[in-house]
Amino acid sequence: MTANGVRNLAITEVLNRTSADTCEVRPLSDTWACDVFNLATMEEKLSKNAFKAVRKTVQTGEPLDKATADIVAAAMKDWAMSKGANFFSHVFYPLTNITAEKHDGFIITNSEGHAITEFTGSLLIKGEPDGSSFPNGSLRMTNAARGYTAWDPTSPAYIKHTANGATLMIPSVFMSWTGESLDKKIPLLRSNAAMDAAARRVLALMGETDVAPLNASCGPEQEYFLVDQHFVNARPDLMLAGRTLFGAPPAKGQEFDDHYFGAIPERVQVYMQAVEEKLYRLGIPAKTHHNEVAPGQFEIAPYHEAANIAADHQQLVMTTLKATAEEHGFVCLLHEKPFAGLNGSGKHVNWSVGNETQGNLLDPGTSPEQNLNFLVFCGAVIRGVHKFGPLLRAVIATASNDHRLGANEAPPAILSVYLGDQLEAVFEDIKNGKVSVSSDGGEMDLGLSQILNFTRDPGDRNRTSPFAFTGNRFEFRAVGSSQSVSGPLVAMNTMLADSLTWIGDKLEVQLEAGKTVAEAVAVVLQELMQEHGAAVFGGDGYSSEWHEAAVSERGLRNLPTSADALPVFTEPEVVELFEKTGVLSAVELNARYEVYSEQYINSVAVEAKLVIDMAKTVIYPAALRYAADLAATFTAVEGLGASFDTTQVKVIAENANLLLSTVGELATELERHDFADTEAHMVHSATTIRGLMDQARVYADALEAEVDDAAWPLPKYREMLFIK
Ligand code: ADP
Ligand code: MG
Repeated sequence: MTANGVRNLAITEVLNRTSADTCEVRPLSDTWACDVFNLATMEEKLSKNAFKAVRKTVQTGEPLDKATADIVAAAMKDWAMSKGANFFSHVFYPLTNITAEKHDGFIITNSEGHAITEFTGSLLIKGEPDGSSFPNGSLRMTNAARGYTAWDPTSPAYIKHTANGATLMIPSVFMSWTGESLDKKIPLLRSNAAMDAAARRVLALMGETDVAPLNASCGPEQEYFLVDQHFVNARPDLMLAGRTLFGAPPAKGQEFDDHYFGAIPERVQVYMQAVEEKLYRLGIPAKTHHNEVAPGQFEIAPYHEAANIAADHQQLVMTTLKATAEEHGFVCLLHEKPFAGLNGSGKHVNWSVGNETQGNLLDPGTSPEQNLNFLVFCGAVIRGVHKFGPLLRAVIATASNDHRLGANEAPPAILSVYLGDQLEAVFEDIKNGKVSVSSDGGEMDLGLSQILNFTRDPGDRNRTSPFAFTGNRFEFRAVGSSQSVSGPLVAMNTMLADSLTWIGDKLEVQLEAGKTVAEAVAVVLQELMQEHGAAVFGGDGYSSEWHEAAVSERGLRNLPTSADALPVFTEPEVVELFEKTGVLSAVELNARYEVYSEQYINSVAVEAKLVIDMAKTVIYPAALRYAADLAATFTAVEGLGASFDTTQVKVIAENANLLLSTVGELATELERHDFADTEAHMVHSATTIRGLMDQARVYADALEAEVDDAAWPLPKYREMLFIK
């Protein structure tokens, strides 16, 4: 095959696509949750008593007794087998961002050698996948590397269909022999419990007598790119790293803003419908889909759900997007920055907390009491962002998300909180003691009227803020598109638990001193704002003035790379936060630091190796061949007494030489292992390795701009982005 053969073949294949994509869209009533073993299914399949017991477990997470577990397991197996599943699997979420499964058959043989099927309560409840090769951090060192999975009854089991058949999937936690969390689900459940306990105490202090358990809610907006499979197959970087490590900018990018909310290309529309059909079957309420800013970029967002369910569903959304893309000849890129110069992909994590009795506590509401609750919870979030902003930065620190943060298309790596003009003014008044509160026969003084009459203003948006109040929830906008939402949710729930505990302690003192609830709240929130108000920022988060002022005037921290951010996991206040709230022990937290650091270093190293490989074996040879062609032509033409300008061939030679020497240097740096500690190694990856990779790209992209298009081996940006 000639130099550009692979690229040309890809273009030809894509242009010659004949298979008209179709997707039969069935009525929602036929498909909705039809593959989910939810409470409705259980009510149908179980005796009254068994159902009552399991419903309690589902709603509270309390363990099932053994007899009921056996009954539930048997019913689950029959239901799954009626849907064609002969296998079951505990699904769990190790410290990578992936979903892990281990499949087992229902089949056993009896003494006569007949095949029978069996699924007991103990198999349902506990699995032993021996996940010793999942990253464990130092937990690997504890007495056994073996991992156990245990059913999370609060997240329903479901059937996963693939071309190879159906499997019963059982959402589970994953822990070590010694009971330490090796996963992303356990801390999420614990953080919800910590938030619930702290919130209930505060609500009780505020005079609420009937307070139901609180739950965090989450609605994650997922951005992604679609690229035709043929192009990906012709690009080792997209195939192995999920992003382009080289590629000159196309003449046309996103400058016309003509993609955002534009008409969805038909092939993509069909794909989206196929995705949604699958999600509906799994009971995932996919609600919006549209084009995003960059060409080839799209978004899907489900309706919000309880955080634990939403986190499991989000993993399924990512898996489904990828698997369905393959069926439609696409590759779905969840990477945060697949294409330089174009917007990257994020995952806005919309988050609120609430319960059945008080409703959504981040909704201003309509009555004075509701608004008072709202202000307390909103204040707690402000304090959380101020005190634990660096932690919020750390939970979104990945090699891929670093490309996006602070790149003038996504929030900066400085964590501040945006409230909107009206609410910001309210909190400013609280801070300055301008809100006078007195209680007169149960009627609150209208000194508070400004707050009591506060109404939400969902139109008020600031796209440049990493953490924004959007009317009845906060939107954590700096989360990366390829990430699990668990880490961010854990951080938000835990910081809220901590703030509510702080508020509760202060409220108690004020109330004991004889203050009314409203007075006590005003005093406590004033202190809160004086200490933590610096995190509130309504201006342009992209501006250089903010980057300057945030640090020098507000005392906020700017942690531009993962190398700067991940060590936050080892800082004493963060260790204390997680220990005090019972969300993660010091050992569990440190394991996360080790695993995420290692992943960061490995991700950068893999990309660096790809840069070296592609530069030496794909790009340099293409440049050399073209230069040789030119040289041969020049010689031939000279024989005829004519001559061509040789500037271009000199530019090619110069860039090709620089490319080669740069990747040589990169290879040497990659060999280094003499680092004092992990942090030093990460800094080396972030600065030296990434610096040389960027430099190599400059030379390679310059070559792409000089070499004959017909001789260029890699699919170009214009092709990958615009040919569908
Ligand atoms: P936009 O792009 O305008 O921010 P979308 O409609 O794409 O909004 O996504 C908003 C997300 O926020 C949806 O998943 C929605 O269900 C979720 N959401 C709405 N209200 C809440 C809430 N109270 N708590 C958590 N998530 C919420
Ligand atoms: Mg959206």
